[in-house]
Parts: sequence; structure tokens; C-alpha cells
Amino acid sequence: MTGLMAGKRGLIMGVANDHSIAWGIAKTLHRHGAELAFTYQGEALGRRVAPLAASVGSDIVLPCDVEDIATVDAAFATLDERFPDGIDFIVHAIGFSDKAQLKGRYVDVTTRANFSRTMTISCFSFTEIAQRAAARMPRGGSLLTLTYAGSTRVMPNYNVMGVAKAALEASVRYLASDLGPDGIRVNALSAGPMRTLAGAGIADARLMYNHQKAHAPLRRTVTLEDVGNSALYLLSDLSGGVTGEIHFVDSGYNIISMPRTAVLQA
Ligand code: NAD
Repeated sequence: MTGLMAGKRGLIMGVANDHSIAWGIAKTLHRHGAELAFTYQGEALGRRVAPLAASVGSDIVLPCDVEDIATVDAAFATLDERFPDGIDFIVHAIGFSDKAQLKGRYVDVTTRANFSRTMTISCFSFTEIAQRAAARMPRGGSLLTLTYAGSTRVMPNYNVMGVAKAALEASVRYLASDLGPDGIRVNALSAGPMRTLAGAGIADARLMYNHQKAHAPLRRTVTLEDVGNSALYLLSDLSGGVTGEIHFVDSGYNIISMPRTAVLQA
């Protein structure tokens, strides 16, 4: 433990189980001295999140479904009671789309209803959380969300999630510009494919995972620890001069155009 997060308090949103990216981040932040609160979506997940939270010394485990803004406000109201001096950081690791539309051609499968729902949950919720978080950050702070490279390049089956992640990344830049004068930094981590509940919702996720392993410069996929350590950087004072960034944690996959293995096979 370095104490990098000592004295810092924050909210982790998006733990579903111990494979969740949010959980990887929470464990790292706890090891470095942060005091944590958690939200969960629905009672079934709540029963899983409570013992995980307890294992990092937290009994602040609050229901919150971002589709129901009243539950978001209720969670922040409880946070005000538990952290009356405000908070220092938020991790937003929330994403959802109908998995029937994460399969096949974007042009064929996408409906208006699921487009809107995907955007509300996976993109606009970050803005709504930022609005509430900023009001509770009198000393400044750091907001972090999770994105994926399907925002700027076409990944088979990622479809409407890619469109939502593009909008999420644009939101990061607008929020960073608006909140910067208050000392609040806003960044995103762009993680390579990981085996999580949300990740499994994308058709042929295993192929994306194997492709990354074969072609990324580091020749491996990323771990919860990799993502946790990068989040530690973005949420701690180590990145005090960094805002509005989309930071890749993907074994370098994003820099590759034509994989070397394709040349070797030619
Ligand atoms: P996960 O399934 O563990 O986490 C997704 C979380 O979103 C869950 O905790 C779920 O409860 C929450 N969620 C969904 N709808 C919600 C709602 N209406 N209200 C509140 N919470 C809701 O999967 P994960 O891979 O850890 O996903 C976390 C984030 O990381 C997502 O934004 C995802 O797009 C992003 N991401 C994942 C990968 C990957 O390969 N797994 C890669 C890059 C980015």
C-alpha cells in the first residue's frame, strides 16, 4: 500500500460480481487507502455486492438503477449522510444493451427503443452522475468512466454499444471542459476485451478476446489488476494535470493497423 488514496472517499458504480471491472478498480483503490461506497442494480446483485464491499471494509452498499433517476438521487442522499464532507472520486462502470442487438449487422438489428435505452444507461447516466458528483466535490475530484475502442473503429457485433461509447467519450470531453475550473477532472479508461458479464453479452466475444491475445503488442489480454492500476493513476493525484483523456489499457492493441502475424503468414 502506498497511501496514494489515503483520505479520499468515493463511489464505485457497476460491480456485478468479482469479475467486474469496477471490482478490480475497487480492490486497487482500497489497497491504496481509499474509503469506498458501492451501488448495485437490483436485489440479486446486491446480495453479491454486499460481501465484496465488506471485504474492502465498506458497509455503504446502495441500490441504484440509472434508468430510474429517483434511485440515483436516493443513493446520493445516503452518500451525503455517510460522507458529509463530500466525495473525491466516482467510478462509473455501467453499460447495457439488448444482447439480441449485439449480434449481426448494426444496420439490420438496431431498434429505436434499444438505441435510446442503450444511450440512456451506457452514456447519459455518466452525465447525470457527474451533475450530482460535482455538487459534492468542494475540494475538486476525479470522475472516471469505462469505454471500449468500438467507439472509433468498427468491431463486429459491438454495434449500438460502439455508438453509445462514442457519445460517452464526447461526454468525457465536454464534462472535463465544464468541470475543470472547479478542479474536477473527467477521464475514461478504454479497456481491451475482458471476460465479464457485460463482455459475454457481445456475440463471439471469445473471438475478440483471442484476436487481442494474438495481435496486441503485449500478446495478452488485460487483467483486472491492469485496469485497477490505471484507474489508480487517473483517480489519484498522480494524474493531477490530466483531464478529458481516453486512456487505453489494452496491451497496445489500438496502435495496430495490420497485425505482424498477417505479414508473416502472407
Ligand atoms: P459487468 O457486467 O461486470 O458490469 C456492468 C455493470 O453495469 C453491472 O454491474 C450492471 O449492474 C451495471 N448496469 C447495467 N445497467 C444498469 C442500470 N440500468 N443501472 C445501474 N447499473 C447498471 O461488466 P464490465 O465489463 O465490468 O462492464 C463495466 C464497464 O466496462 C461497462 O461500461 C463496459 O461497457 C465497459 N467495458 C467492458 C469491457 C469488457 O471487455 N468487459 C471492455 C471495455 C469497457
